[in-house]
Amino acid sequence: MKKMKKQLVKLLNIQAPSGEEHKVVKYVKPILQSLCDKVWLDDYKNLLAEKKVGSGKGATIILSAHMDSVSNIIKDRVVYESNGTFYSTKGILGADDRAGIAILLAVLRNVEKTAFEGTIKVAFSREEEIGCVGSQKIDPEWIKGSDLAIVVDRRGNNDIVVGNYSQAFCSNEVGKFFEDCSALQDMNWQATEGGISDACTFAELNVNAVNLSAGYQNEHTEKEYVVYKDMQKTVKLILQVLASVNDFAGGFGDVPLSNNWVEGYDGMVYYNDWSDYADDYEDLWEGRDQYGTVSSSIVDGNVCITQRVGEALDEVYISKTTFEKIIRAYERNKVANSYTSYLTDNTLPSAGGLSEAEKVVIEKHGKIGTF
Ligand SMILES: [Zn+2]
Repeated sequence: MKKMKKQLVKLLNIQAPSGEEHKVVKYVKPILQSLCDKVWLDDYKNLLAEKKVGSGKGATIILSAHMDSVSNIIKDRVVYESNGTFYSTKGILGADDRAGIAILLAVLRNVEKTAFEGTIKVAFSREEEIGCVGSQKIDPEWIKGSDLAIVVDRRGNNDIVVGNYSQAFCSNEVGKFFEDCSALQDMNWQATEGGISDACTFAELNVNAVNLSAGYQNEHTEKEYVVYKDMQKTVKLILQVLASVNDFAGGFGDVPLSNNWVEGYDGMVYYNDWSDYADDYEDLWEGRDQYGTVSSSIVDGNVCITQRVGEALDEVYISKTTFEKIIRAYERNKVANSYTSYLTDNTLPSAGGLSEAEKVVIEKHGKIGTF
């Protein structure tokens, strides 16, 4: 039996809903210790690790999955395999997100077979299922400045989640880079919009992030199952990404407000008519722009726009009339689609296929083998 399969079965058999992740830590920590240079629990008991690969000179990549499962695992259920798919006899299976952990352990076992040199940071988080609580407790200084965060916590196969309804997780370059790496391995992964995951936490700290399919389906229900072949595909994609990342990370840029697949700005909610609102501290809208979190409220009859970037806070007061003008201009621009193109025009990747620079790099390094 392959090692990843063995570890998946072990992980599925650990009962650990949110708050009981120490049971997963007990199993995973010694494995990480055999694969990484440094392994520790942070103050919130997230399981973190670091591994230098090759010279260590190169990109810093975060690999992340969450250790908790939703709470309704039935004690005497049995995990079984049929035709390469794993099921539970009753209740949820819990492959969300133990499959993600098994996948990332397989990546760590094989990373030295790739051309990757640099630093791997592993973040196995707690309490994702109750609102990404654990990942938000990780020291932001440890996360910031990383070149990329790869979260494995998405249902199905072939999804590269690059943002959700309110937030882009990464630049166009990153989404395209993942699609190109998939094509190199004759797979068909596509950048797409998804939901909430720990990728939100990394993107908020301006680390380009994606959330990849982990092979499970119908998570959080009795019909949950996980397809082993799909897990292998995820391992293959991540290893190709690691093999090529040092040639492309320099062009990833900052985490934008929106990208080719996600209109993050449209997540901004605002009210054209605030006559119903009381005069003080009523929220008009809130959202996120390329520099941080933006919200607005009425204070003493004026509109106060607040922008938060990390610890820094900036406030601007404008009249309601000016605010209305801005909103109307925004609406017009949105119709003409000029606002989003203004933001992304400079960074749009070449349409379709590989760029000349990408072709040169692939010629130079070739495709990596299979694993
Ligand atoms: Zn999950």
